[in-house]
Amino acid sequence: MKLLVVEDEEQLADALTEILKRDKYSVDTCYNGIDGLDNALTGVYDCIILDIMLPGMSGIEVLRNLRQEKINAPVLLLTARSEIEDKINGLDTGADDYLTKPFVTGELLARIRALTRRKGEIIDENRMDYNGLLLNKNTSSVIWQDNDVKLSLKEYQIMELLISNPKQILPKERIIEKIWGYESDVEYNNIEVYISFLRKKLSVISAPVQIKTARGIGYFLE
Ligand code: CA
Repeated sequence: MKLLVVEDEEQLADALTEILKRDKYSVDTCYNGIDGLDNALTGVYDCIILDIMLPGMSGIEVLRNLRQEKINAPVLLLTARSEIEDKINGLDTGADDYLTKPFVTGELLARIRALTRRKGEIIDENRMDYNGLLLNKNTSSVIWQDNDVKLSLKEYQIMELLISNPKQILPKERIIEKIWGYESDVEYNNIEVYISFLRKKLSVISAPVQIKTARGIGYFLE
């Protein structure tokens, strides 16, 4: 799952980014409103963590622009205690939730989980189910009945993306955007390598689930 952190206090922004990455999100970080808006307009994020007081353009302005451009990713606003007015304003503008600084990490993670929860596929915060095939975030593994196999971080992220979009073909460009980001120089054949690792691992645990290729487009689970 891909997150955007927009926060001008660089230490806080970097600490948040680290914590989120440790929780297996892929994260982009911006330190001002203009870069934040630029990134968010790409539409690849599953959740945007947006500070209100930002240089360049306020969080509220960023949010207003996003909603005008029909970017509907959930937005979690970060506010200082003194910014009550802004908080109300933010919720009116289309924010989904807010968190008052200072906050504890556990609460931030819980809010993000709530905002990004997808119906049907998630059993609890750490496990996803695709027709009996389980993906476990804590152990970074896929499980079929009594068999399990560990995944690398990228393998985990690709598998999570596939399970989150069942019955859909995931174009390769989208996988790159979601997992490596726009500016990466990852190429299609890098993804093919990861997919072939994943296919081997699925066959090692005898899972009846396959990653199919939609020729010239991308991949889907079956
Ligand atoms: Ca700020």
